[in-house]
Amino acid sequence: MSDGTKTPEELLVLAKEVGLSGLSITDHDTIAAYTDAVMNQAKELDLFLGTGVELSCLHNKKESVHILGYAFDHTSGNLQAFCTKHQERRFIRNKEMITKLEKMGMPIGSDWLLDANGNPKWGIGRPHIAEKLISKGYVKDIRDAFARYIGDGKSAYVPSGSFTVEESIDVIHRAGGKAFIAHPHLIQKNRTLNALLEMDFNGIECHYGNFTADVALKWINICQEKNWLISGGSDYHGDIKPETRLGKRFVTRDIYQKIFGI
Ligand code: AMP
Repeated sequence: MSDGTKTPEELLVLAKEVGLSGLSITDHDTIAAYTDAVMNQAKELDLFLGTGVELSCLHNKKESVHILGYAFDHTSGNLQAFCTKHQERRFIRNKEMITKLEKMGMPIGSDWLLDANGNPKWGIGRPHIAEKLISKGYVKDIRDAFARYIGDGKSAYVPSGSFTVEESIDVIHRAGGKAFIAHPHLIQKNRTLNALLEMDFNGIECHYGNFTADVALKWINICQEKNWLISGGSDYHGDIKPETRLGKRFVTRDIYQKIFGI
């Protein structure tokens, strides 16, 4: 429901095909994948579907940090309202990036940010802007779009005016969920990592996309020291991220059960 190219329904079918027994769909800043229809489809396919979300946060007002929330109550009004606030700030940010691109001679319009009723569509982010730049012929592919214009710090980039890590952890906890540090290798500053390790997390994403066993072990050791949980995922996004595939990284059943309390 955010920047992946498959629908939740297609993901469940694919999960079954690749031999997973369970999964969690961790959209950016939205839990809209968790509808009754999707939950029922998972049951029919005999797949365990644990709730998940990847929240964009800001540490020290400027450093982007992603956190994963798992095993929350997806009907939590508080969490839903939090995700709505994220979508509102995403809409404003997307418009700001589109304005910058237009000023640079690369108009891509902004009508496509709205649904048929004129409301902002949910889950729109930089990969969608990249797609528009590709379709207009301004860049050759998604990497080119990020490298030249919309990657962090590039000319059309607008930082996310997001919420703090602490308040995001709190929202997940209040919805009965568990909070994990996502893809920890992307945290650039040691100081930031050390600050996160002092926060009220429940675990770290130790198994990720292209991690080797050695890299995973580094994070697993930290989890063991802190008595935190281990999580893992493929960061599958469908066609826009061909370097990974669903199930490329996974956790064993006992780890999954600890996260989801089953
Ligand atoms: P946003 O939430 O709008 O800031 O967009 C974040 C998304 O952009 C993530 O799903 C990333 O996978 C994707 N992304 C970030 N950097 C790059 C990059 N250099 N190349 C391709 N995709 C990227």
